[in-house]
This record gives sequence, C-alpha cells and structure tokens, in this order.
Amino acid sequence: MFENILGQDKIKQMLSSRVKNKKIAHAYLFMGQDRVGRKSTAFEFAKVLNCSVNDWTKTDIGACGKCSNCVKISKNIHPDIHLIDFAKQLEVNEDARENTKEILIGTIKNYLQKEISVKAREGLWKFFIIDEAEKMNEQAANALLKTLEEPPNNTIIILIARHKETIPQTIVSRSQVLFFQPLKRSQVISYLTTRQGWTLQKAEDAAQICEGSIPDEASLLDEEDERAALRILTKITDKSLCAYDILELSKSVKKDCALPYIDIMIAKIKNDFRVRPAVSFFILEALIKARSELLRNINMNIVFDNLFFSINEKSFS
Ligand SMILES: [Zn+2]
Repeated sequence: MFENILGQDKIKQMLSSRVKNKKIAHAYLFMGQDRVGRKSTAFEFAKVLNCSVNDWTKTDIGACGKCSNCVKISKNIHPDIHLIDFAKQLEVNEDARENTKEILIGTIKNYLQKEISVKAREGLWKFFIIDEAEKMNEQAANALLKTLEEPPNNTIIILIARHKETIPQTIVSRSQVLFFQPLKRSQVISYLTTRQGWTLQKAEDAAQICEGSIPDEASLLDEEDERAALRILTKITDKSLCAYDILELSKSVKKDCALPYIDIMIAKIKNDFRVRPAVSFFILEALIKARSELLRNINMNIVFDNLFFSINEKSFS
C-alpha cells in the first residue's frame, strides 16, 4: 500500500497496518512542511479505501490506480472525495470574495457539513481533505469541532497543516496526528530525474534549494516559461485584442505547460486580488473552471480558447 508515495516510510507502514487491522480513525492531522507528500498521501488513502478492484478488507496490495474510482480520485473529480482549499472555497462560498486569507465558517457549515450528511455517491468512503487547515478562523474551527464530536460512519476528515500549534487543541485531540518528515535530498533528486525527466544537474540544483520538499508544479517550468505565462495573462486583458489575436495566444500555449500556466495565472490573480476584486474574482473563476476541464481531459485548445475569450471579455465589464 502507498507505494506511490515518495519517502515517508514510517507513515506508510503505520497507515497500512491500521488499514489492515481495520483501525481507521475518523480524523487525521497530516503535519509537515509543504510538498513532502501530505496531500498525495491523503488522496492515496482515499484510493485505497475506495478502489473497486483491490478490496482493502481482503488484500493489502493497495489501490489499483486504474479503476474508475482511482482515476477520478487522482484527477480530483470524484464526487465523494472533497478537497477543501482556497480555490474550492471561492467556488462554494460567496463570502470568500471579501476574505481570501482565512477558511470561513460558511465553507465548513454550508459545504462540508452539507456534503457530509449526503450518502456516498460512488465510493464507499467519503473523504474531506482540508488543505492549509491552520487558516481556519475560530468560528470555522468550532463548526468543524462539532462534526468531529459526532463523526458520521465511513467518513474521514484529513487536516493538512504545517504545525500542530496552529490548530485548536480540541481538534488535535480528536485527530490522529501524523508527522511528515522532510524528504531526503537523494529522494528528491531521484523523483525529479526518474518521474519528471529532469537532468541530474538540474535536479541536484533544485534539491539544494527546496530543502526536503518537491518543487511545485509551477516551478517545474523554467523562468522563461513562467514569464511567458504571465506575459499571456497581461496580454489577454488588453482591450485592443481582436479575436484572431486571442486565438493566436491560445495556440501559443504548449501542451506540457497547460496546467502549470494555469497555476501560475491563478497564483498571480490571487496575489493581485485586492486591486480589482470583482474582475479578479471572475478571472479566477474562469481559471479554476479551465483547470478542472483540463483535468477532465477536455481538448486543451477548446479550453484555452474559451478561457482567453472570457477573460478578455470580463476584463472590461
Ligand atoms: Zn482502483
């Protein structure tokens, strides 16, 4: 089980043995620095319990990675697996347009608690994975505590955070706490060279800077590509563009760069949110929609044509 996860042997052993012995907790706190495998372990856990090929109650092989449940979970489009992060919050909670720095009570009450009360649609186990859980404000944390006090069956809540101290003690005491260690330099290098196809030199340089974390998707691009993504974003908001220019910009996005470009643009818009909140919100919404379409394998030319036309239009409304 959990073979796909890089490093973190103790955590993999612990989770595997708990699953094998059917000692599954209702709530987990996955702690550690960014990009050491907390989120991927949470998703893998969801796959292990929901895989429709390898039944975890009968085998300890782990998730097949190929069945419909596994694939949907990998793409974050499974109806029973909910990743709650700032992008999701913007989708489900209007108040988040005003407050982009905290996870708000409305997100817990009107989204998590509503979804938790619905029966699993396709899987057997429902997962709620709260990223950057330390950003929950007091009211949101109190609302979550109510859910943890009366946990529904076959539902797992995973809080992802950097430090235990940033999460209220009442929540920590109701969760199983797992500490993710920084990755070894050799693990980062081997990941970047074998799974990402980086040259050894580039991987060694990156591992030096990243201090035990895997570089994020956006930084898998070189600086030139990052500048290109930001250049496109600036151009696309130019009023004088004609339809032909917009289609040409859309064509200029290389296939390998599609998702990273969107992530760079999302980060940029989030950063500039306060300058023009209404316009930023529309653009962010369009980017998030495009991101999920790409993950659902919708033709990337269509996704980028639509995205760029709608950003261009919304920039002046
Ligand atoms: Zn499977």
